[in-house]
Amino acid sequence: MNKALSSTSEDTSIAAQLKWAASLILSAEAANDTALLDAKILLCHCLQRDTSYLHTWPEKTLEPEQVIQFTELIQQRCQGHPIAYLIGYRDFWTLRLRVSEATLIPRPETELLVESALELGLPDKAKVLDLGTGTGAIALALASEKSHWQVIGIDKSHDAVKLAKQNATENQLDSVRFMQSDWFSKLDKQRFDLIVTNPPYVEDNSPYLQQGDVRFEPLSALISGADGLDDIRFIVGQAKGFLAGAGWLVIEHGFEQDEKIRNIFESNAYVEIRSVSDFNGLPRVTMGKFYENDL
Ligand code: GLN
Repeated sequence: MNKALSSTSEDTSIAAQLKWAASLILSAEAANDTALLDAKILLCHCLQRDTSYLHTWPEKTLEPEQVIQFTELIQQRCQGHPIAYLIGYRDFWTLRLRVSEATLIPRPETELLVESALELGLPDKAKVLDLGTGTGAIALALASEKSHWQVIGIDKSHDAVKLAKQNATENQLDSVRFMQSDWFSKLDKQRFDLIVTNPPYVEDNSPYLQQGDVRFEPLSALISGADGLDDIRFIVGQAKGFLAGAGWLVIEHGFEQDEKIRNIFESNAYVEIRSVSDFNGLPRVTMGKFYENDL
Protein backbone atom coordinates (compact mmCIF):
# COMPACT_ATOMS: atom_id res chain seq x y z
CA MET A 1 0.00 0.00 0.00
CA ASN A 2 1.46 3.43 -0.79
CA LYS A 3 1.74 6.14 1.84
CA ALA A 4 -1.31 8.09 0.73
CA LEU A 5 -3.50 5.04 1.27
CA SER A 6 -2.86 4.92 4.97
CA SER A 7 -3.96 8.53 5.47
CA THR A 8 -7.51 9.50 6.34
CA SER A 9 -9.42 12.73 6.00
CA GLU A 10 -9.77 14.55 9.31
CA ASP A 11 -12.99 16.21 8.24
CA THR A 12 -15.59 13.45 8.65
CA SER A 13 -18.42 15.20 6.83
CA ILE A 14 -19.96 13.36 3.90
CA ALA A 15 -18.67 15.95 1.41
CA ALA A 16 -15.11 15.85 2.72
CA GLN A 17 -15.01 12.06 2.96
CA LEU A 18 -16.23 11.73 -0.61
CA LYS A 19 -13.66 14.20 -1.91
CA TRP A 20 -10.87 12.45 -0.03
CA ALA A 21 -11.94 9.01 -1.19
CA ALA A 22 -12.39 9.94 -4.85
CA SER A 23 -8.95 11.55 -5.06
CA LEU A 24 -7.37 8.57 -3.36
CA ILE A 25 -8.97 6.13 -5.80
CA LEU A 26 -7.90 8.34 -8.71
CA SER A 27 -4.29 8.41 -7.58
CA ALA A 28 -4.09 4.71 -6.78
CA GLU A 29 -2.30 2.30 -9.02
CA ALA A 30 -5.61 0.74 -9.96
CA ALA A 31 -6.99 4.18 -10.83
CA ASN A 32 -10.21 4.07 -12.75
CA ASP A 33 -12.50 6.57 -14.35
CA THR A 34 -15.40 6.05 -11.96
CA ALA A 35 -13.62 7.19 -8.80
CA LEU A 36 -16.34 9.53 -7.50
CA LEU A 37 -19.13 7.11 -8.33
CA ASP A 38 -17.21 4.29 -6.61
CA ALA A 39 -16.72 6.47 -3.53
CA LYS A 40 -20.44 7.30 -3.44
CA ILE A 41 -21.50 3.67 -3.75
CA LEU A 42 -19.15 2.63 -0.96
CA LEU A 43 -20.23 5.49 1.30
CA CYS A 44 -23.91 4.68 0.69
CA HIS A 45 -23.09 1.09 1.67
CA CYS A 46 -21.46 2.21 4.95
CA LEU A 47 -24.30 4.60 5.81
CA GLN A 48 -27.04 2.24 4.57
CA ARG A 49 -28.51 5.16 2.65
CA ASP A 50 -29.02 5.99 -1.02
CA THR A 51 -27.13 8.62 -3.02
CA SER A 52 -29.81 11.28 -2.58
CA TYR A 53 -28.94 11.28 1.13
CA LEU A 54 -25.33 12.16 0.30
CA HIS A 55 -26.45 15.09 -1.82
CA THR A 56 -29.03 16.30 0.69
CA TRP A 57 -26.76 16.15 3.75
CA PRO A 58 -23.20 16.90 2.58
CA GLU A 59 -22.28 18.48 5.93
CA LYS A 60 -23.44 15.53 8.11
CA THR A 61 -20.56 13.83 9.85
CA LEU A 62 -19.92 10.08 9.91
CA GLU A 63 -19.84 8.00 13.08
CA PRO A 64 -16.29 6.92 13.99
CA GLU A 65 -17.01 3.28 13.04
CA GLN A 66 -18.42 4.40 9.71
CA VAL A 67 -15.19 6.31 9.04
CA ILE A 68 -13.20 3.16 9.79
CA GLN A 69 -15.37 0.98 7.57
CA PHE A 70 -15.34 3.51 4.73
CA THR A 71 -11.57 3.95 4.93
CA GLU A 72 -11.05 0.19 4.73
CA LEU A 73 -13.33 -0.14 1.73
CA ILE A 74 -11.62 2.73 -0.07
CA GLN A 75 -8.24 1.16 0.56
CA GLN A 76 -9.46 -2.12 -0.92
CA ARG A 77 -10.95 -0.33 -3.90
CA CYS A 78 -7.58 1.39 -4.42
CA GLN A 79 -6.04 -2.07 -4.64
CA GLY A 80 -8.55 -2.92 -7.37
CA HIS A 81 -11.10 -5.03 -5.49
CA PRO A 82 -14.37 -4.98 -7.48
CA ILE A 83 -17.16 -2.81 -6.11
CA ALA A 84 -19.59 -5.74 -6.27
CA TYR A 85 -17.40 -7.86 -3.96
CA LEU A 86 -16.97 -4.93 -1.56
CA ILE A 87 -20.68 -4.25 -1.18
CA GLY A 88 -21.67 -7.92 -1.65
CA TYR A 89 -24.19 -7.64 -4.46
CA ARG A 90 -24.77 -6.71 -8.11
CA ASP A 91 -28.02 -5.89 -9.86
CA PHE A 92 -28.81 -8.08 -12.88
CA TRP A 93 -31.97 -8.02 -15.00
CA THR A 94 -34.60 -7.00 -12.41
CA LEU A 95 -32.91 -8.85 -9.56
CA ARG A 96 -30.48 -7.97 -6.79
CA LEU A 97 -27.97 -10.81 -6.52
CA ARG A 98 -25.47 -11.55 -3.81
CA VAL A 99 -21.97 -12.15 -5.12
CA SER A 100 -18.93 -13.73 -3.58
CA GLU A 101 -15.42 -14.51 -4.71
CA ALA A 102 -16.65 -18.00 -5.59
CA THR A 103 -18.52 -16.60 -8.58
CA LEU A 104 -18.16 -14.29 -11.51
CA ILE A 105 -19.84 -10.93 -11.04
CA PRO A 106 -22.93 -10.86 -13.29
CA ARG A 107 -22.32 -8.68 -16.37
CA PRO A 108 -24.82 -6.55 -18.29
CA GLU A 109 -23.75 -8.39 -21.50
CA THR A 110 -25.25 -11.58 -20.09
CA GLU A 111 -28.70 -9.97 -20.20
CA LEU A 112 -28.45 -10.44 -23.98
CA LEU A 113 -28.39 -14.19 -23.42
CA VAL A 114 -31.49 -13.93 -21.20
CA GLU A 115 -33.31 -11.86 -23.84
CA SER A 116 -32.31 -14.26 -26.62
CA ALA A 117 -33.57 -17.25 -24.66
CA LEU A 118 -36.89 -15.55 -23.87
CA GLU A 119 -37.46 -14.87 -27.56
CA LEU A 120 -37.25 -18.52 -28.61
CA GLY A 121 -40.97 -19.16 -28.13
CA LEU A 122 -40.53 -22.19 -25.89
CA PRO A 123 -43.44 -24.18 -24.42
CA ASP A 124 -45.19 -22.81 -21.31
CA LYS A 125 -43.71 -25.48 -19.08
CA ALA A 126 -40.28 -25.60 -20.70
CA LYS A 127 -37.52 -27.51 -18.93
CA VAL A 128 -34.45 -25.32 -18.72
CA LEU A 129 -30.88 -25.96 -17.62
CA ASP A 130 -28.34 -23.24 -16.77
CA LEU A 131 -24.81 -24.66 -16.89
CA GLY A 132 -22.23 -22.99 -14.65
CA THR A 133 -24.86 -20.86 -12.99
CA GLY A 134 -22.56 -18.97 -10.55
CA THR A 135 -24.78 -16.49 -8.68
CA GLY A 136 -27.78 -18.06 -10.41
CA ALA A 137 -28.16 -14.93 -12.53
CA ILE A 138 -29.37 -16.46 -15.79
CA ALA A 139 -31.53 -19.16 -14.21
CA LEU A 140 -33.21 -16.67 -11.87
CA ALA A 141 -33.73 -14.02 -14.55
CA LEU A 142 -35.44 -16.59 -16.80
CA ALA A 143 -37.59 -17.88 -13.95
CA SER A 144 -38.57 -14.32 -13.00
CA GLU A 145 -40.04 -13.87 -16.49
CA LYS A 146 -41.45 -17.37 -16.99
CA SER A 147 -42.98 -18.59 -13.78
CA HIS A 148 -44.04 -21.94 -15.29
CA TRP A 149 -40.65 -22.88 -16.68
CA GLN A 150 -38.88 -25.61 -14.71
CA VAL A 151 -35.42 -24.19 -14.27
CA ILE A 152 -32.34 -25.96 -12.90
CA GLY A 153 -28.98 -24.26 -12.39
CA ILE A 154 -25.83 -26.29 -11.88
CA ASP A 155 -22.31 -25.33 -10.91
CA LYS A 156 -19.24 -27.32 -9.97
CA SER A 157 -18.55 -25.00 -7.03
CA HIS A 158 -20.42 -25.81 -3.79
CA ASP A 159 -20.07 -22.19 -2.69
CA ALA A 160 -21.65 -20.98 -5.91
CA VAL A 161 -24.59 -23.38 -5.48
CA LYS A 162 -25.09 -22.15 -1.93
CA LEU A 163 -25.05 -18.56 -3.08
CA ALA A 164 -27.43 -19.23 -5.98
CA LYS A 165 -29.92 -20.87 -3.57
CA GLN A 166 -29.71 -17.85 -1.31
CA ASN A 167 -30.33 -15.57 -4.30
CA ALA A 168 -33.36 -17.64 -5.26
CA THR A 169 -34.83 -17.28 -1.78
CA GLU A 170 -34.09 -13.57 -1.50
CA ASN A 171 -35.72 -12.92 -4.88
CA GLN A 172 -38.75 -15.13 -4.11
CA LEU A 173 -37.82 -17.53 -6.89
CA ASP A 174 -37.68 -20.71 -4.86
CA SER A 175 -39.04 -22.84 -7.69
CA VAL A 176 -35.58 -22.72 -9.32
CA ARG A 177 -33.47 -25.73 -8.31
CA PHE A 178 -29.73 -25.59 -7.93
CA MET A 179 -27.31 -28.48 -7.63
CA GLN A 180 -23.61 -29.15 -7.64
CA SER A 181 -22.37 -30.80 -10.81
CA ASP A 182 -19.30 -30.50 -13.00
CA TRP A 183 -21.12 -29.67 -16.24
CA PHE A 184 -23.46 -32.63 -16.97
CA SER A 185 -21.70 -35.16 -14.73
CA LYS A 186 -24.30 -35.41 -11.93
CA LEU A 187 -27.43 -34.94 -14.03
CA ASP A 188 -29.51 -38.05 -14.39
CA LYS A 189 -30.80 -38.80 -17.87
CA GLN A 190 -33.26 -36.08 -18.67
CA ARG A 191 -34.03 -33.81 -21.59
CA PHE A 192 -34.32 -30.04 -21.64
CA ASP A 193 -36.10 -27.70 -24.04
CA LEU A 194 -33.39 -25.14 -23.43
CA ILE A 195 -29.83 -25.24 -22.18
CA VAL A 196 -28.20 -21.87 -21.50
CA THR A 197 -24.67 -21.18 -20.42
CA ASN A 198 -22.15 -18.43 -19.78
CA PRO A 199 -19.13 -20.74 -19.62
CA PRO A 200 -15.48 -19.77 -19.26
CA TYR A 201 -14.28 -18.61 -22.69
CA VAL A 202 -11.18 -16.48 -22.18
CA GLU A 203 -7.84 -17.72 -23.59
CA ASP A 204 -5.55 -19.09 -20.86
CA ASN A 205 -2.88 -16.45 -21.43
CA SER A 206 -5.05 -13.50 -22.29
CA PRO A 207 -3.63 -10.13 -21.11
CA TYR A 208 -7.26 -9.24 -20.32
CA LEU A 209 -6.90 -11.30 -17.14
CA GLN A 210 -4.46 -8.76 -15.70
CA GLN A 211 -6.93 -5.88 -15.82
CA GLY A 212 -9.72 -4.54 -13.64
CA ASP A 213 -12.26 -6.67 -11.80
CA VAL A 214 -11.35 -9.97 -13.50
CA ARG A 215 -8.10 -10.13 -11.49
CA PHE A 216 -10.23 -10.90 -8.44
CA GLU A 217 -12.69 -13.31 -10.02
CA PRO A 218 -12.30 -17.12 -10.03
CA LEU A 219 -10.06 -18.16 -12.91
CA SER A 220 -12.06 -21.37 -13.27
CA ALA A 221 -15.04 -19.27 -14.36
CA LEU A 222 -12.98 -17.33 -16.89
CA ILE A 223 -10.40 -19.37 -18.76
CA SER A 224 -10.83 -22.37 -21.01
CA GLY A 225 -7.72 -23.55 -22.83
CA ALA A 226 -5.41 -21.94 -25.35
CA ASP A 227 -8.21 -20.60 -27.57
CA GLY A 228 -10.80 -20.22 -24.79
CA LEU A 229 -13.09 -22.76 -26.44
CA ASP A 230 -12.36 -26.02 -24.58
CA ASP A 231 -15.48 -25.87 -22.42
CA ILE A 232 -17.69 -24.69 -25.27
CA ARG A 233 -16.54 -27.61 -27.47
CA PHE A 234 -17.33 -29.99 -24.62
CA ILE A 235 -20.73 -28.44 -23.86
CA VAL A 236 -21.92 -28.35 -27.48
CA GLY A 237 -21.04 -32.03 -27.87
CA GLN A 238 -22.46 -33.22 -24.54
CA ALA A 239 -25.63 -31.11 -24.67
CA LYS A 240 -26.92 -33.27 -27.51
CA GLY A 241 -27.58 -36.03 -25.01
CA PHE A 242 -29.66 -33.68 -22.82
CA LEU A 243 -31.72 -31.73 -25.33
CA ALA A 244 -35.33 -32.69 -25.94
CA GLY A 245 -36.59 -32.97 -29.54
CA ALA A 246 -35.86 -29.56 -31.10
CA GLY A 247 -34.19 -28.25 -27.95
CA TRP A 248 -32.07 -25.11 -28.00
CA LEU A 249 -28.55 -24.54 -26.74
CA VAL A 250 -27.71 -20.86 -26.17
CA ILE A 251 -24.14 -19.83 -25.32
CA GLU A 252 -22.48 -16.56 -24.34
CA HIS A 253 -18.97 -16.06 -25.73
CA GLY A 254 -16.27 -13.54 -26.57
CA PHE A 255 -16.97 -11.04 -29.34
CA GLU A 256 -14.43 -12.60 -31.74
CA GLN A 257 -15.42 -16.22 -31.22
CA ASP A 258 -18.78 -16.34 -33.01
CA GLU A 259 -17.63 -17.91 -36.28
CA LYS A 260 -15.63 -20.65 -34.57
CA ILE A 261 -18.57 -21.41 -32.30
CA ARG A 262 -21.03 -21.60 -35.20
CA ASN A 263 -18.62 -24.12 -36.77
CA ILE A 264 -18.61 -26.17 -33.57
CA PHE A 265 -22.43 -26.20 -33.59
CA GLU A 266 -22.43 -27.17 -37.26
CA SER A 267 -20.00 -30.03 -36.90
CA ASN A 268 -22.27 -31.36 -34.12
CA ALA A 269 -25.29 -31.36 -36.45
CA TYR A 270 -27.23 -28.52 -34.80
CA VAL A 271 -29.56 -26.53 -37.05
CA GLU A 272 -30.93 -22.96 -37.18
CA ILE A 273 -27.53 -21.82 -35.91
CA ARG A 274 -27.22 -18.07 -35.41
CA SER A 275 -25.33 -15.44 -33.44
CA VAL A 276 -26.83 -12.37 -31.79
CA SER A 277 -25.05 -9.05 -31.30
CA ASP A 278 -25.09 -6.82 -28.24
CA PHE A 279 -25.94 -3.09 -28.32
CA ASN A 280 -22.35 -2.37 -29.43
CA GLY A 281 -22.94 -4.52 -32.51
CA LEU A 282 -20.63 -7.28 -31.23
CA PRO A 283 -21.69 -10.93 -31.58
CA ARG A 284 -21.84 -12.25 -28.01
CA VAL A 285 -24.40 -15.06 -28.05
CA THR A 286 -24.66 -18.06 -30.38
CA MET A 287 -27.43 -20.62 -30.46
CA GLY A 288 -28.50 -23.74 -32.28
CA LYS A 289 -31.29 -26.29 -32.19
CA PHE A 290 -30.80 -30.03 -31.92
CA TYR A 291 -33.22 -32.75 -32.89
CA GLU A 292 -33.01 -35.64 -30.46
CA ASN A 293 -33.77 -38.15 -33.19
CA ASP A 294 -30.63 -37.10 -35.04
CA LEU A 295 -28.46 -38.71 -32.38
N1 GLN B 1 -17.70 -12.00 -20.09
C1 GLN B 1 -16.63 -12.19 -19.16
C2 GLN B 1 -15.68 -11.07 -19.24
O1 GLN B 1 -15.70 -10.35 -20.19
C3 GLN B 1 -15.89 -13.46 -19.36
C4 GLN B 1 -16.55 -14.45 -18.51
C5 GLN B 1 -16.59 -15.75 -19.13
O2 GLN B 1 -15.58 -16.32 -19.51
N2 GLN B 1 -17.75 -16.28 -19.16
O3 GLN B 1 -14.95 -10.89 -18.32
